[in-house]
Amino acid sequence: MFDPLPESYIALLPEVESFLSQTVKLYINGQYVDSLSGETFETIDPSTGKRLALVQRGKAQDVDNAVKAARAEFDGGAWWRTMSPTDRSKCLWRLAELIERHGDELAQLDSLDNGKPLKTTRSVDIPLSAEHLYYYAGWPTKIEGSTIPINERGMFNYTLREPVGVVGLIVPWNYPLLMAMWKLAPCLAAGNCVILKPAEQTPLSAVYLARLTQEAGFPPGVFNVVSGYGEEAGAALVAHHGVDKIGFTGSSEVARKIVQGSIGNLKRVSLELGGKAPNIVFADADIDKAIVGSTWAIFGNNGQSCTAGARLYIQRPVFDRVIEGMAAETKKIVVGPGMNVVQPNLGPVVNDEQLTRILGFVTEAESGGARAVTGGGRIGGGLQDGYFVEPTIFVDARDDMRIAREEIFGPVVCAMPFDHVGEIVARANDTDYGLAAGLWTNDLRKAHALARALRAGTIWINTWGNTEASSPFGGFKQSGYGREMGKEAIDLYTEVKSVWVKYE
Ligand code: NDP
Repeated sequence: MFDPLPESYIALLPEVESFLSQTVKLYINGQYVDSLSGETFETIDPSTGKRLALVQRGKAQDVDNAVKAARAEFDGGAWWRTMSPTDRSKCLWRLAELIERHGDELAQLDSLDNGKPLKTTRSVDIPLSAEHLYYYAGWPTKIEGSTIPINERGMFNYTLREPVGVVGLIVPWNYPLLMAMWKLAPCLAAGNCVILKPAEQTPLSAVYLARLTQEAGFPPGVFNVVSGYGEEAGAALVAHHGVDKIGFTGSSEVARKIVQGSIGNLKRVSLELGGKAPNIVFADADIDKAIVGSTWAIFGNNGQSCTAGARLYIQRPVFDRVIEGMAAETKKIVVGPGMNVVQPNLGPVVNDEQLTRILGFVTEAESGGARAVTGGGRIGGGLQDGYFVEPTIFVDARDDMRIAREEIFGPVVCAMPFDHVGEIVARANDTDYGLAAGLWTNDLRKAHALARALRAGTIWINTWGNTEASSPFGGFKQSGYGREMGKEAIDLYTEVKSVWVKYE
């Protein structure tokens, strides 16, 4: 079942080896179980194209069982009515500690499944997942309502903030554990019960996490994992009348299906979707910092990030200098298997489908007149079995080309010159998306003026990609609705109840 990995791979931890050698189960009502159909699917190592593990394929009946377990736990109230807020905090805190303790195992699982370098999962994905839990572990004791001044005499009015109920969380593959944790941590802190549907490409860390929730003392039914395909397990979760809310991260195309699928019981939906972030380099910026920052704004996580700085606007006087600098930086990037003993900077893209999609964008851009100053193809040689793409910088592109308008979700940036501030705001905002935007300048007035003028949920000035559990994150326009992180995520996973008391 489990093909031996190439010799140049980092040795698997015994626990990881044992985890992968068995069929990866679903987790429902505090138990690891097989899918009712008995069917399984494969998860693939994108560095080799070979099977990593077999995973139970959850479908509608399995989702139904998970919803029943979550519903019973929520309606019984043990997690949020009976357990004190302090005890709920302790559960979250213990889970954060367990994630740290098992950080090596989780990092290997995410690196194998997604392809990204182990040094990245070990230093970014896993610590940030724990960090999210530590932050939200502080919230159960601070979820407050308010006292409202009321006109009517003898009337007292106050509000309560209560959990939404049973929540389906549907997450993507680009940061497998971390994207799950962005939703799970506030959702659980608020007292909801959860069914997590990980991406079919990267289910491993979510299933491993289930064991840690057991150890952390979560009552059965609070946290369930149903792996499977989006059209089966995902769609069943969205349509289920026992689910009160769906939290989703992924493509706009699937988001539309989720909104449509949710209408049966008018469940709440929050969406964190794609982007085509404009990254603007002004001539008055610290150009050396802008070069390095802009290189990693696009190529960080292989461009498989909804906030990737994929539309690069450079003020004309410094255009050539920035492009030359970025091309030189890019040539230093080492691409290779994420589990290689000699750690690369970037791994493969996640699967064959994404590889084909990215290369399709590249071919179309070239035939439309854009020119790759570096990259532009698949990486072959010893990496030919994996899904490796050269980090690619396009020039001679236009705003109306597909590479400048659509989310590629790969290591491809298109750079275009601009002349004036007025012009660049209109061009940067001319997009269906609005997740993030950034600029590089030493002019404070311009920086703050653009922070206001750019239509996006996050603005980075002389930096890129920063997020923290305490700071809200989400999109304008078709980049979604609702804000994750910060206290906004508590609002996202709670309902407000208004209570009226007549005392005269
Ligand atoms: P999807 O939007 O298809 O996948 C995201 C999640 O939704 C996965 O868990 C998927 O399940 C699930 N899903 C798929 N179809 C349904 C459905 N009908 N009902 C409920 N859930 C469903 O993204 P892809 O992986 O296909 O990537 C395609 C593009 O999406 C990328 O190129 C990128 O542009 C964008 N994307 C954006 C992300 C972001 O962070 N905003 C993250 C990932 C992708 P499963 O994978 O099991 O089918």
